[in-house]
Amino acid sequence: MEMRDYLQSCSSCGFQRSDSIGIAECPRCGKTLKYLYRRIREIKSSGFLDSSLSGMWKYHQLLPVDDLGSCVTLGEGGTPLTDSHRLRSRFGFSGRLLLKDETQNPTGTYKDRPASIGVTKALETGSRLVAIASDGNAGPAVAAYSARAGLDCLVVMPEDTPMERNIQAVLYGARLILVKESTVSECIDLVNELSGTFDWTHLTTAAAVNPYHIEGTKTIAYEIAEDLGWSSPDWVIVPAGGAGLAAATWKGFLEMKVAGMINKLPRLLVVQAKGCAPVVRAFKEKKRRVERWEKPNTKATAIGVPYPLDGDWALEAIEESGGYALTLSDEEMNKAAMILARSEGVFAESTGAASVAGFARALEEGIVGGEETVVAVVTGSGLKSISLFGELMDESRVIGRDSSDLNSVVEEYMQADREDLGTP
Ligand SMILES: [Zn+2]
Repeated sequence: MEMRDYLQSCSSCGFQRSDSIGIAECPRCGKTLKYLYRRIREIKSSGFLDSSLSGMWKYHQLLPVDDLGSCVTLGEGGTPLTDSHRLRSRFGFSGRLLLKDETQNPTGTYKDRPASIGVTKALETGSRLVAIASDGNAGPAVAAYSARAGLDCLVVMPEDTPMERNIQAVLYGARLILVKESTVSECIDLVNELSGTFDWTHLTTAAAVNPYHIEGTKTIAYEIAEDLGWSSPDWVIVPAGGAGLAAATWKGFLEMKVAGMINKLPRLLVVQAKGCAPVVRAFKEKKRRVERWEKPNTKATAIGVPYPLDGDWALEAIEESGGYALTLSDEEMNKAAMILARSEGVFAESTGAASVAGFARALEEGIVGGEETVVAVVTGSGLKSISLFGELMDESRVIGRDSSDLNSVVEEYMQADREDLGTP
């Protein structure tokens, strides 16, 4: 076995391997393999991060790459963590509410992090083709990084994926394949089934099929802790579709704890759509395994994943962190996206704002409160599902080219604003 700084390990049977090409499943028992880092206990003194780099690659000592010079980057990571004063007072919260704004990644989603490392590994291991099943966030992200690396890319998505996402993938030069009457879970199954037939690197963002995805995504946790002066917030709120984000966030914090960078761990609050909530259901029923949600009924397709491949890992993370899981209606998420845009100037898709909706609910139910510090991860840009907000155009006014027209409309607005604010 070649001595690399990183290795993959099975927490169930103890199998270990250290190879440049990662594999997802333990060949002995089938469990999902996790990356470990040999030098993690020394890493605090050697410098947890490489300050000559920006974005997620500054944490390359805890990423499974051999040649840093070949990493495929578009400037992912390094996203802002901002105090949201207006939201906080709107919700009547006396603690600290921070937004981790992942909409600012190159293709508008946190999925740029796993795409960056996934395509880097595809290149490093000599692959010419990458394949991904996606609901429209990770697919375009992988398409963009493949374009950057000069690799061919196949993106497989459900036929009813919003057009903004389809176009994004095609524009980046990916071959887009739309599957009739499917959810992303069936698309993943299709790609997985043919993974032995074609020599592609499978970059679907689920640890059960793509070993690199958790490693890229966990850098969100590193950045949160770094921005808080190497400490943990009390809570981190994440939406769960495939549930890899929850698993990865937890892995990131655990690694920092082992490395001695932070003293305490946060609690995880995982939110899902009411119409498709397999992780929340398993959490509430105190199950160890997530079961397939039979009839998904939500417009929040980006998190409406009937069978979350990283669900068991996420459940474990919620449990270990002393966390919580709750469901949200589509309306709650849409409303949160609007409030987030209007209170903080952050334009998120409704599933991206699900963490904010989750915060509002958790506050109401007394799950969070007091002087706690809460980080809501805003996962993706509203530009990726802008047609969902089409009815907002009803709020606009069309006038003639006469200044008196403009005058009367503005007067009307001023009047309405005063009434809205309840000022005399
Ligand atoms: Zn095993």
